[in-house]
Amino acid sequence: MDSTAVSRAVTRNTPAAITPSGAIPKVGFVSLGCPKALVDSEQILTQLRAEGYDTAKSYEGADLVIVNTCGFIDAAVQESLDAIGEALAENGKVIVTGCLGAKKDADGEDIIAKVHPKVLAVTGPHAVGEVMDAVHIHLPKPHDPFMDLVPEQGVRLTPKHYAYLKISEGCNHRCSFCIIPSMRGDLVSRPVGEVMREAENLVKAGVKELLVISQDTSAYGVDIKYRTDFVNGRPVRTRMTELVQELSKLGVWVRLHYVYPYPHVNEVLPLMAEFSNSSSAYGNVLPYLDVPFQHAHPDVLKRMKRPASGEKNLDRIRAWRSACPDLTIRSTFIAGFPGETEAEFDYLLDFLNEAELDRVGCFAYSPVEGATANQLNGALPDALREERRARFMQVQEAISAKRIKRHVGQTMKVLIDGVNQDGGIARSYADAPEIDGNVFISPPQSVSQRAAYRTKVRVGEFASVRITGADGHDLWGDLV
Ligand code: SF4
Repeated sequence: MDSTAVSRAVTRNTPAAITPSGAIPKVGFVSLGCPKALVDSEQILTQLRAEGYDTAKSYEGADLVIVNTCGFIDAAVQESLDAIGEALAENGKVIVTGCLGAKKDADGEDIIAKVHPKVLAVTGPHAVGEVMDAVHIHLPKPHDPFMDLVPEQGVRLTPKHYAYLKISEGCNHRCSFCIIPSMRGDLVSRPVGEVMREAENLVKAGVKELLVISQDTSAYGVDIKYRTDFVNGRPVRTRMTELVQELSKLGVWVRLHYVYPYPHVNEVLPLMAEFSNSSSAYGNVLPYLDVPFQHAHPDVLKRMKRPASGEKNLDRIRAWRSACPDLTIRSTFIAGFPGETEAEFDYLLDFLNEAELDRVGCFAYSPVEGATANQLNGALPDALREERRARFMQVQEAISAKRIKRHVGQTMKVLIDGVNQDGGIARSYADAPEIDGNVFISPPQSVSQRAAYRTKVRVGEFASVRITGADGHDLWGDLV
């Protein structure tokens, strides 16, 4: 370990952006520790420079100082603590990053906060984004005439009140009907700190519902061995349960899509069970799981090369519902896959009747160019695939209609997507945007109700609705 390399106050002569007051904000930098820490320092300095900050030669010339620390052995800890103390004494505005930032003493307390309570912010290692967040707070960014046109949460195509949060790209599976891995490659998970920073920015921008998406949400972090990252200075593993726990603290709805039925999905059910339609706190993990089962018969699933065993899925659904009785389960299926026998299809219908899923989509199998399923024997005629899809939907429609009726008489919390002269168009925890149903809020019945209605039924706001009616997909109700 090389804990003694100290590089101070990198200077550059290239021009930097000028703030409205005419001054270029200057950051002093103290870099301690091993080559990995040095790379972190380089990345932070690169980002500072990219955003128009300059670097200072001395403590006096700096508007703020960043100290990148080492915490490997006692001598390195002491050296880091001394460097922080010096920067505080000489400059006063200090942000600390690096390994010591993540270290606790024997009492479980953060070492830096204890020894140097005056530091402005502390992060762990590999935390360029968090360091930059702290810099932005304590030394606002120089104006950038190009980037400043882009909102902090990026450019989004969804309405202001909900947003998709992509946590990974690609997929490690090789389902025989799918060509996504050949187009997007193997699973690449975004570190949890990066995902959480995006989520926080979205919430700051007014988003009330985050929809977690990926190709396989349950596999989040597998590719990086669930590596620990930092969320606001705290170590957090890059793993589905830990991510959901962090998202649940943001005070907005969190909805999970593309969750494969692996055993560890059980870990998020207690968080979903905490959701309450009657509580005044709206922040919660919604009791909603989008689980793409695709089929139920083990032999068809084998030909599909699907992850997660078909035989145990009924048991899993029962366990989820017993942990969270309000759970809404959405899924998709394929009817008429190559070689699907009448018996295998009947098995699928039996599964539907047993599982009583809430929301279901079904596609008649259709070959995709490049998919390995195209080489399977036993392709079914188009008409038979379509006929099975229609039979499937007939069975499922009765189940969905029965399931949705349980909400009649309940008071549900809804998020309002639209308002017109016929009333409000909203969604409950059981409805993902675009793919599920709606809750239609009746218009005010009297002149005296109009003012309250106008205040409460507004796009992007939550409201409480007493459910009075249901069809197979949608609910109707009155504002409470
Ligand atoms: S269908 Fe299979 S291979 Fe395709 S993205 Fe989903 S899990 Fe991956």
